[in-house]
Amino acid sequence: MTEQRHDTTAGPAREAIARAWDELVATARRTVTDGLVVGTSGNVSVRVGDTVLVTPSGVPYEKLTPAHVLGVDLDGNRTIGDLAPTSELPMHLAVYRSTAAGAVVHTHAVHATAVSTLVPELPTIHYMTAALGGPVRVAPYALYGSDELAENMLRALRDRSACLLQNHGTVAYADTLAQAFDRTAQLEWMCQVWLTATAGPGRVPHLLSLSQLHEVEEKLSGYGQVSARPAFEDEAEGR
Ligand SMILES: [Zn+2]
Repeated sequence: MTEQRHDTTAGPAREAIARAWDELVATARRTVTDGLVVGTSGNVSVRVGDTVLVTPSGVPYEKLTPAHVLGVDLDGNRTIGDLAPTSELPMHLAVYRSTAAGAVVHTHAVHATAVSTLVPELPTIHYMTAALGGPVRVAPYALYGSDELAENMLRALRDRSACLLQNHGTVAYADTLAQAFDRTAQLEWMCQVWLTATAGPGRVPHLLSLSQLHEVEEKLSGYGQVSARPAFEDEAEGR
C-alpha cells in the first residue's frame, strides 16, 4: 500500500472510515432483510472521530458500494463523498451532539410505528424495557427532516437509548451499529408484543412497575455487556 501524500486523511483514519462504511452498509441492508425497513424508508449512521458516516438519500441499500462512502461533520457539512445525505440527518446529528453515541439507527418498523399513533409511551409490557433505559417515550409528531422533529426526539430520548416518533417510526442509538440495530429490533418486538396482548377484545395486559424494571436494570448491569445504557428515573407515574 502506498501513501497518498496529498490526501488530508491519514492512512489509519481512511481505513477506519472504510471499515465503518462497510459495517454501516451491512447494517442498513439488515434493516431491510429483517423487515424493519421497506425500501429506503430508514437510515443508519456511525461516528468515526468527528466524522459521521450516513446513508445517502434515495439510493437502495443493495446498490451501496465502498465508492458511495458519505461523511459529514457534526454541523452537517459534507466532508466525504458527493451524494446527498439522508433527509433525516438533523436527527442523527442531534443524537451525536447530545450523547456519547457511536451509531444511530432510524426505521419505520411497522409495529413500532403503529404503537406511536396510539400512546404517548410504550406500556411496560416486557422486562427488556429496562435495557432501553426505562419506559420508551413517543416523541410528538413533527415534519420529517425538521429541526423540530430532532428536538422532540431528543426530549423523548432523555435517559433512554431509544424512542418512538409519532406517526413515523423508531430511533435507537448505542456505542456500536450492532447494538443500535439490536435495540431497534428489541423495541419493534416489544411493540409487537403489546399490540398482540391488547388485540383481544376486553383483554388488559399486566404491566411491569418501575421498581420491577429497576430490579431488571440492576441485574442486566451485572452482565457487563450492556454498555452506555442510561439510567432511568422515576416518572410516568399513574399508569
Ligand atoms: Zn423516517
